[in-house]
Parts: sequence; structure tokens; C-alpha cells
Amino acid sequence: MPIQLLPDTLINQIAAGEVVERPASIVKELAENSLDAGATEIAIHLEAGGIERVCVRDDGCGIPASELPLAVARHATSKIDSLKALLSVTTKGFRGEALAAIAAVTHLTIASRPREAPHGMKLDARSGELTPYAMAPGTEVDCRALFDTVPARRKFLKTPQTEAHHAIEAARRLALAHPQVAWQVTHNDKLVWRLAPQSAEARFLALFHTDPAEWRLAHAETPAAQLLGWVIEPRFARESARQALQYLFVNGRAVRDRLLAQAVRQAYHDVLHGHRQPSYVLFLTVAPELVDVNVHPAKSEVRFRDPNAIFRLVNGAIAQALAPTVVFPQPLGTE
Ligand code: ADP
Ligand code: MG
Repeated sequence: MPIQLLPDTLINQIAAGEVVERPASIVKELAENSLDAGATEIAIHLEAGGIERVCVRDDGCGIPASELPLAVARHATSKIDSLKALLSVTTKGFRGEALAAIAAVTHLTIASRPREAPHGMKLDARSGELTPYAMAPGTEVDCRALFDTVPARRKFLKTPQTEAHHAIEAARRLALAHPQVAWQVTHNDKLVWRLAPQSAEARFLALFHTDPAEWRLAHAETPAAQLLGWVIEPRFARESARQALQYLFVNGRAVRDRLLAQAVRQAYHDVLHGHRQPSYVLFLTVAPELVDVNVHPAKSEVRFRDPNAIFRLVNGAIAQALAPTVVFPQPLGTE
């Protein structure tokens, strides 16, 4: 075969492999867009675990009708316009590829109405058709029949129950990190949860139906970073990692990070017996210039400018939270 440029649809389908693994990825990307749009209310609806349908509606800033086709185009974003902006990005999105990727593997429509617009407009990403649409201000993205054009990928999806579990978990992580936003999740005809705006602590307790007496507050800050969250009392720690609640957020983004997990584990080292696993829900806030989130398309990994300082902050805060009695608390970051 001679060398040739790939057609756009194929480019998008290839790129979609990195962004869209399963319905949960769609929930995450769409709800993150809603958060970036300043939404105060986000409603997520799933059908058949999200395999048949994921629909996310918000009351955010909306998209002008003239920009709707760009919203689903690849490498089109309203969130950054320069390398400088990339290095200090505070929005969840910035790569401008999620909607294009999702549109490549689902049947996607996006309807939007900016506050000042008299009515909404709806774009069908496949046909390009743009039609007036009656809606409240905000945006509604509706994705149907995941992978129906990519049967090889559809085969990797699990049962609707399993996919629903992962999709609801994705929503839960976002709701945990954004307690000031009202959330609603429905699956088929059932309400999964509905949460009014609340404090971070109330949101945490509501989402996990947990007893506050089992947890300790962890808190520490340095000029460059702040840690806040809850760690389990060692005697309530679970037997296995599967049962443990282990949530780590960096600047409101759920991440997997070995360094941070290790900082937690080490703080528990002397107080946890056998194979018991710590549970924790931790929110780390770092100046955006000191952390690189552009490591992977799903942005679930981060790189810290000064990993040692972050390790000490997290480790110290948890060790202090777990200490039986704090006699003379040593302010962190003053050593
Ligand atoms: P990114 O979030 O990286 O910019 P996306 O493909 O997710 O890329 O979205 C493309 C653009 O579409 C966004 O930059 C934003 O301008 C617009 N957009 C997407 N979803 C919404 C939404 N829910 N509300 C307002 N604007 C949105
Ligand atoms: Mg996005």
C-alpha cells in the first residue's frame, strides 16, 4: 500500500481508543465538560449500563450555535490557546478531543443554549444537521449505541450491570470532588442518587453512607500545596484492597499515583496489621504550574514538579491524623 493520509473518521476512531474505553469514560468526559462550563447542576442518565445511552445535561454556560460543529471537531477547544495557558491550565479539559472521540464511537447529538440565546440548537454529529431545540440554558450531550460501528471494541464491554457500576463510580468520583454542584444519576428508570450542593464533608458522608466516627480528618499545608481529607481509623481498616475506599484527588481530578499511595501506606505502616488496607479520601491542591496533568489522554496520572515535597506533605498529614494524641502539633513544612 502506498503511504496515504488517513480519513478523518478513521483518525477519530483510532484516537477514541485512548479516550473512550467504556461508558464510564464517556460519563467522565461529559461531566468534566459540564464542570468546566461552570454548571451548578449536572444530571447523568444511563441506559443498559451506558452501553445503549449516556446522556449528560447541565446548566452551564452553553455553546453558541455557530461553535457547535467545532465542539465535536478534533483538537478544537475553548480552554487553552497557547503553551503558557497549557502550563497553568485549571480546567478539566484542554485537549479538545473528547467530544470528537466520543462522536466517533457513538451516535452523538449535542444540544446547547447559552443563557442569552432565545432557544437551543441541536447538532447531530454524524449527519452534521443543526436544528432548533427547546431547552433550558445549558448543554445536553446524548450518546447512543456505544461502539455500534466498531464491533471489535463492543465485544470488550462487560455486562450492563458491570458497566453501570463503573459509570456510576466515575460519577461518584466527580461528585465527591465537586460538592458545591448538585448531581443526579439515573440508570434505566431508576434514580441512583441525587445530591444537593453541600459541604465536602457532608458529600463524603452521603456518598459512602459511612459513619463519621470511623474517620479522622487529615489536614496540612505548605505555601505550595494543601492536603485535606479523611483517613480511616486503623481499627476500621478493611481486609482487602477491594473493600477499602481509596480516593486521591489532585486539583479536583481523581488520579492514580504510586507516590501518593506510598505516602499514605507508609503513614499507616506501624498501625495497620497484616493485610489490612487503609481507606482514604484525600484532596490535594497544588499550584497548577507545579503539577503536569498532560501525561495521558485520560489525565488520570500526574507528574509533580517536586515529588519529595508532596510525599512529605501527604505522609506527614496522615501520620499526624493517626497519632493517638497530638501534644504539640508541629506545623508542617517548617522543618
Ligand atoms: P476539551 O474539554 O478538552 O476542550 P471537548 O472535546 O471535551 O474538549 O470539548 C470541546 C469544546 O466544546 C470545549 O472546549 C467547550 O468549549 C465545548 N463544550 C463541550 N461540552 C460543553 C458543555 N457541557 N458546556 C459548554 N461547553 C462545552
Ligand atoms: Mg472535555
